[in-house]
Amino acid sequence: MNKHLQSLIQIANLDKQIDDLEPKITQARKELDSKIAQKTSTLLTIETLQDQSKNLQHEINENDRIIHETSTRLEDIAKKQQEIRSEKELRALNVEEDIAKENLTLANEQIQKLQTIQKAKNNEITQLQESISELDSQISELEQSTQGAVEVIKKEQQEIFKQKQEIISKSDIKTITFYEKIRRWAKNTSVVPVFKQACGGCFIRLNDRIYAEVLSDENSIVTCPHCGRILYPSDKQTYQECVQ
Ligand SMILES: [Zn+2]
Repeated sequence: MNKHLQSLIQIANLDKQIDDLEPKITQARKELDSKIAQKTSTLLTIETLQDQSKNLQHEINENDRIIHETSTRLEDIAKKQQEIRSEKELRALNVEEDIAKENLTLANEQIQKLQTIQKAKNNEITQLQESISELDSQISELEQSTQGAVEVIKKEQQEIFKQKQEIISKSDIKTITFYEKIRRWAKNTSVVPVFKQACGGCFIRLNDRIYAEVLSDENSIVTCPHCGRILYPSDKQTYQECVQ
């Protein structure tokens, strides 16, 4: 097999090994990541509840203002009632007094209602804040245990990466660039074997000319005319020689 193709098969195989380790890292970090996500969402909930509690306080303050104004108004009415000169004036003042008293009752009721809701929200905030500190301690524990596991996997990845760099340093740069370009979309199926005269990537049958090119030992890289992946003959022995 030609030297360029041999390097590409080796590189593609190492790239796949590096990628295959990614899910292991995700798995090792799974519990930690879920706790971090839980903390983030809890913090968001706390923020929302704090906003709601603040809005409730605004409403309470507004009702307080109404009570204050109405009380002043009632004092005015009481003063005026002592200086009444006509029946008509008395009736008007009485009506005004009734309305003011009703408003006072309504505002007081409203404040009570709002305070009950606010208290429930504040209690929820306190509970969530407690769960945050619990999550924090769980996260720091998990960080320590996960770090070790992730480091082992990362080290393994780095080792493979080093092997890959070594092959790249001895390879033809144009071929590598060509491979990297295909890898952008074909990922770990950039370099594929030909089975029964069909591309191992798109599975479309190759014509005799292309198939002959794949089988020949010429120093050129053959790509699938249908999908563009790099092809190599599916001789298992040849493949094993390359990846060893
Ligand atoms: Zn193809």
